[in-house]
Amino acid sequence: MKIAKVGVLGAGQMGNGIAQVFAVAGFNITMRDLSSEALDKGLNTIKKSLGKLLEKAKLSPEQHNQALANIKTTTALTDLQDCDLIIEAVTENPDLKIKVFQEIDATVKPEAILATNTSSISITQIAAATKRPSQVIGMHFMNPVPLMQLVEVIRAIQTADEVYMAVEDAAKAVGKTPVEVNDYPGFVANRILMPMINEAIYCLMEGVASKEAIDTVMKLGMNHPMGPLTLADLIGLDTCLAIMEVLHRDLGDSKYRPCPLLKKMVLAGWLGRKSGRGFYSY
Ligand code: NAD
Repeated sequence: MKIAKVGVLGAGQMGNGIAQVFAVAGFNITMRDLSSEALDKGLNTIKKSLGKLLEKAKLSPEQHNQALANIKTTTALTDLQDCDLIIEAVTENPDLKIKVFQEIDATVKPEAILATNTSSISITQIAAATKRPSQVIGMHFMNPVPLMQLVEVIRAIQTADEVYMAVEDAAKAVGKTPVEVNDYPGFVANRILMPMINEAIYCLMEGVASKEAIDTVMKLGMNHPMGPLTLADLIGLDTCLAIMEVLHRDLGDSKYRPCPLLKKMVLAGWLGRKSGRGFYSY
């Protein structure tokens, strides 16, 4: 399965990062979002990020210009119809993902692979909603995509071996390290990470310590590069809550109940960096 053209659904923080790393690696990218504002914002983030790589001489001027030239943006799903691989990175909402997969399944060529960057939603359920379940797979990049090495490659129960291998090769082609994981709620990364973040929010809610103290304990005590509350702001509190809800519902264990303070902050629209306010102000 040769992958040359890649469609990215969603130009948010993950979508634009994914588009960037594929464009730098020489793939033709078409990035789709619902509005030209969202696309412009995503493209500007890519331009800034590529500009920094140019400044640090990690990219030559030619590589920088070629990467930018490799990216097209569109609001029309039909512009993705001849892509070999689609990577979906829309908002973490199961109903939305199913709808988007049904739309894209009806639009792109039959041999195309459909991957999702979901943090926690069942790949098996998404695959079952399409007419090509064996060609659906999870491709879970880490945030920020240009800097982070890992891609969890998640097999739905239906995923064909050759699809898994093609996606593993694509992850390597963009300089990442793929790790094979099976489809269970939260996979590996968020099954372990998100309960820790949720517990940090409980510590804050119960007054165990201040936000700065909680983050400092985990940075200096556990050698984490950033504290869990800072990380939650980076991920997006809406995304953190959506992941906890999947873990809680699908594993059925009360230890995964989302912290009420997390719920309240999402209701207030305090989503972290992307909204300017979360545990910290930006
Ligand atoms: P985000 O809110 O930054 O971006 C989501 C984008 O999807 C928005 O621009 C929105 O307009 C767009 N969108 C919504 N419906 C769409 C549609 N039908 N077609 C095209 N675009 C549509 O969110 P994000 O942080 O980039 O997260 C995207 C996905 O990546 C989620 O599934 C999330 O769980 C996953 N993820 C997030 C992180 C993280 O740290 N934020 C890490 C790994 C995976």
